[in-house]
Amino acid sequence: MGKSTGFMEFERVSESYAPVAERVTNYREFVLRLTDDAAKVQGVRCMDCGIPFCNNGCPVNNIIPDWNDLVYRGNWQEALTVLHSTNNFPEFTGRICPAPCEAACTLGINADPVGIKSIERYIVDKGWENGWIAPQIAPVKTGKTVAIVGSGPAGMAAAQQLARAGHAVTVFEKSSRVGGLLRYGIPDFKLEKSIIDRRMVQMEAEGVAFRTKTIVAVDGKLPAGIVNDAVTVVTPDQLKAEFDAVILAGGSEVPRDLPVPGRELTGVHYALEFLIPQNKSVAGDGPNPISAEGKHVVVIGGGDTGSDCVGTSNRHGAVAVTQLEVMPMPPEQENKSVTWPYWPLKLRTSSSHEEGVDRDFAVMTKEFIGENGKLTAIKCVRLEWQGGKPVEVAGSEFEIKADLVFLAMGFTNPVASILEGFGVERDARGNANATTDGEGCYATNVAKVFAAGDVRRGQSLVVWAIREGRQAAREVDAFLMGSSLLPR
Ligand SMILES: Cc1cc2nc3c(=O)[nH]c(=O)nc-3n(C[C@H](O)[C@H](O)[C@H](O)COP(=O)(O)OP(=O)(O)OC[C@H]3O[C@@H](n4cnc5c(N)ncnc54)[C@H](O)[C@@H]3O)c2cc1C
Ligand code: SF4
Repeated sequence: MGKSTGFMEFERVSESYAPVAERVTNYREFVLRLTDDAAKVQGVRCMDCGIPFCNNGCPVNNIIPDWNDLVYRGNWQEALTVLHSTNNFPEFTGRICPAPCEAACTLGINADPVGIKSIERYIVDKGWENGWIAPQIAPVKTGKTVAIVGSGPAGMAAAQQLARAGHAVTVFEKSSRVGGLLRYGIPDFKLEKSIIDRRMVQMEAEGVAFRTKTIVAVDGKLPAGIVNDAVTVVTPDQLKAEFDAVILAGGSEVPRDLPVPGRELTGVHYALEFLIPQNKSVAGDGPNPISAEGKHVVVIGGGDTGSDCVGTSNRHGAVAVTQLEVMPMPPEQENKSVTWPYWPLKLRTSSSHEEGVDRDFAVMTKEFIGENGKLTAIKCVRLEWQGGKPVEVAGSEFEIKADLVFLAMGFTNPVASILEGFGVERDARGNANATTDGEGCYATNVAKVFAAGDVRRGQSLVVWAIREGRQAAREVDAFLMGSSLLPR
C-alpha cells in the first residue's frame, strides 16, 4: 500500500470516452486510457485490504492489491508480471469485463470503488507498447498432443497454458478467424480485433497451431442462426484417435428464440445474424447484408448483446433505436449495503446506450406485425412483476414502429449434435456435464475429453471463460503427465 491515506485524498477517475458525435462515425475503440499520473493516483486509492474482496470477486482471482501498489510506485513491468500470473489476456478483460472485482471492492461500501479495470488495461497496454510481452516458449517438449475445439477465450487460455507446459496444441475453429465471440460477437468499438491477432501471433510462436474454417462434427451441419465458415470437417472420432487429450471449448451457440406470431417476417433477426457480418465487414470481408441505415430498430433483450446491437445500429445510421427488457427497471443507485459476495442491482448504462436509445422495461413482445411479409411494427404489453412472476397489465398493449428487430435474449445451450458426436453427457440445461472442483474436474464422461467455458457453464463472461480454460489446462496437464505445475 503506497500511501495509507490515498483512499481519503483522491477521487476515482474513470477513463474518458471520445465524444458521441465523433465515435458513432466509425467502429474504432473510443475509450481513452488513463495517463501515467492518473493510473498512479488510481492505484494509490487501494487500501490493501487484509481480506481483499476484489481478489475473490474476480473470477480469475487477479492479485489486485499487489498490482495497484506496483502501479503507484511506477513499477509497471512487475505489475504486468503479477497481472499475467492469473490472467492470460488482461487486454480483453481490461476492455470488456463488467468488473465484478469493482462491485466487490471494499472502498465501494461508502465511496467509489478503485478503478481496477482501468488500471488492468493500463498495465497490459503499456506492456505491449514497450515490447515487454514476448512468447514464452516451453524449454522442454513433452511429446503429448492436445486438440482444442473452439478458439474463444476459453480455448485460447487453455491452449496457451498447455503450450507453455510443453504440449503440442492444435486449436480447431469453424470460423475463418480466431477469437470466438471476442472476434465475431463483441464489436470492434469495444475490442479492436488487432488485439486478438497479436495474442494469436504470440501463441503461434509458443507452438499453438490454429486450424480455422474447420468444424469438428459428425457431418458439419448446424442449426439455423449459427454461423459456420468451415470448408473442412474433422470428426470427433478422428480427434479422439489422433490426440492424447481433447478440450471442448465451443461455447453456447444456440440463440434463444421468440416464437410469437410474425416471427417469420423479413426483418426479424437473431442478434448475431447482424453482429457477425458487421465484424466481418469491419475486417474487410464485404458489406453487412443487414443494414440499419434509415431504419426503426427494436432490440429485444437488455444485456451486452442487446447493447452491442444498439451501438452498431447507431453506427449504421438508424433513425430510431428502442431496446426492450422484460424485467423491471433496476434502481439508478445500488444499495450500498449489498456487498460482495452479492451483486448490487443497479441500472447499468453502457457506452452504446449513451449514444442514443430509448430503453423500456417490464415489456413483453406479443406479436411481430408486417405487410407483404415485411416487418412494420411490434405489438407489446406492459408487465407487472408480482412475487417474481410477470403479470400482463390489462389494457396496456401498445405498438412500436419497427423495420428491424434484433433478438438478443441470450443463448440456451451448446449445439447438441456436437456434444452427441463425442458421446458427451449433457446436464439439465444441455451443457457439457463436467464439474469444476475435486478429482476429475473439467473431465466429461468420455475418456480423455474435457470441457471448459460457455460449453460447460452456459452463456457467461469472457473472464469466466479464461478462468475455465486455465483450470481445464491444469487438469489436462495432470492427466497427461501425472501431476501439473500449472496454476489453478
Ligand atoms: C454479442 C455479445 C457480446 C458480449 N459481450 C461481452 C462483454 O462485453 N463482456 C463479457 O465478459 N462477455 C461478453 N459476452 C460473452 C462472452 O463473449 C462469452 O461468454 C465468451 O466469449 C465465451 O467464451 P468461450 O471460449 O467459452 O466460447 P466462444 O467465445 O463462444 O467461442 C467458441 C468458439 O468455438 C467455435 N466452435 C464451436 N463449435 C465448434 C466446432 N464443432 N468445431 C470448431 N469450432 C467450433 C465457435 O465458432 C467459436 O469461435 C458477449 C457475448 C455476445 C454474444
Ligand atoms: S477490495 Fe478495493 S481497496 Fe481492498 S484491496 Fe481490493 S482494490 Fe484495494
